[in-house]
Amino acid sequence: MIQEPVPPSHAFANTDRFGEPVVRRSGIRARLRRYEIATRPIDPETEAALATRWRSLPESARVNGQLIGRRSTGCEATHGVFPKCNFSCKPCYHSAEANKVRVDGQHTLAEIDRQMAYLRSERGHGQFAQLIGGEVSLLDPQDHGDALATMRRFGRIPMSFTHGDFDYDYLRAVVTDTRDRPRFSQVSFACHIDTTMVGRSGAKKPSDEGELHEHRARFCEMFERLENDYGITSYLAHNMTVTPANIDKVADVIRSCHGQGWRMFSFQPAAYIGNENRWRDGYRELTSDRVWTEVEAGAGTSLPYGALQFGDTRCNRVTWGAYLGDDYVPLLDDTDERDHVAVNHWMTAFPGNFALRGRAESVVRFGRSVVAHPIVVPATARWAARFVARGVGWRQRWWSAKPVTFVMHQFIDAADSAAAWKLIQHGERAVEPRILEAQERLEACAYSMGHPETNQLVPACVQHGVLDPIENRELAQLLPLPTRRSRQGPENLPDPMPT
Ligand code: SF4
Repeated sequence: MIQEPVPPSHAFANTDRFGEPVVRRSGIRARLRRYEIATRPIDPETEAALATRWRSLPESARVNGQLIGRRSTGCEATHGVFPKCNFSCKPCYHSAEANKVRVDGQHTLAEIDRQMAYLRSERGHGQFAQLIGGEVSLLDPQDHGDALATMRRFGRIPMSFTHGDFDYDYLRAVVTDTRDRPRFSQVSFACHIDTTMVGRSGAKKPSDEGELHEHRARFCEMFERLENDYGITSYLAHNMTVTPANIDKVADVIRSCHGQGWRMFSFQPAAYIGNENRWRDGYRELTSDRVWTEVEAGAGTSLPYGALQFGDTRCNRVTWGAYLGDDYVPLLDDTDERDHVAVNHWMTAFPGNFALRGRAESVVRFGRSVVAHPIVVPATARWAARFVARGVGWRQRWWSAKPVTFVMHQFIDAADSAAAWKLIQHGERAVEPRILEAQERLEACAYSMGHPETNQLVPACVQHGVLDPIENRELAQLLPLPTRRSRQGPENLPDPMPT
């Protein structure tokens, strides 16, 4: 499954140093033709990728408000590119073999190039992709920056997934070039931070979520400084694993930290997946409803997730909205039929998304989309009036609203994923309700990894629950940890907290 490093591909090298599209020199007719296609409400490549994705969804997921197959083909992630981590979380979604694999920038970049080329060919342009291992900050900063640039070159919007235990100098080195100029205009980072983690500088073994609030704030402050120093803006997601031990602290984390600068709060109820040595009892008591109730308590309001759906709601609950001071106002009310109608108009008018497109091109495309479906204008105006009424009226300082998204992502237990994946591979349908549920969720998966060697898109549940152990055993052969005698530097020391 693991391949030897290959030289980077330049198949999609039509972007500038920020990863923005550039116009190639060619004849005027060819340029006009490209422009006409690029400013359509949806370009043919994205349209085909979305249609394929929609057809592959199970019946249970083909609902009004389904984003997969209409605006997105789903989120993506890297795998097997830097499996090692220097924390020891309980639970940990990576296999026990992960920490036997050396971090190797050349391997990372070659693998990312290969995986992104495949994702681009299967899923089209402008999809969100997580740069995830392992711990991303174990990469040399130059390699980390190169990895982000590679992902953007293939039309991906990368998000680095980290435990956040690095300093400003590391961050600066990732996002600037050798002449201290910005390499990117915007970056996205997801920071996993909670009491299930052991190893953080200054909070090695936190026993209460409150101990970590200052670390959460410090992480956001680094990006604020980055914007002041270099003009690089950021999108920051806060990730928290929820266990029976910290579920009572979910609401406090939201209340205490929503003003720190996070654009997303994402909660992962613990599941029996990944490294078995790190599992604890009681995960199955954490039902989605129980966790979501705590998230709602933190937001101070109910969080509707039925008007816009990302895959299967048994996997993902998402509420988009904004804070006005300490008051959170969801964008949509799924009990109001008029909001469902508005969603339908938006999806019809604006298929696909506008990510990683030139600004002028997007303006023209937006205009063409509105002309093609003009009813979206009054529908949006009526929705805006309802949104304001749901808040506290027109006299509120709406211009100071801070957009924040709440997410809950519930992984499937590894045993169920394995059984369901096997049936999917054989074209069979599960009979047992629990496995049928897993099968439907995998088929509607909103978070996949690309496997060009088998021509497969693999749900992250299957990657972590089934494929990671095999993949990491092979990687440990290809990239063994250095022995003490041959070690080159501190970054190659064996894991200080082996599993
Ligand atoms: S990775 Fe698993 S839990 Fe997440 S969307 Fe895919 S199937 Fe659902």
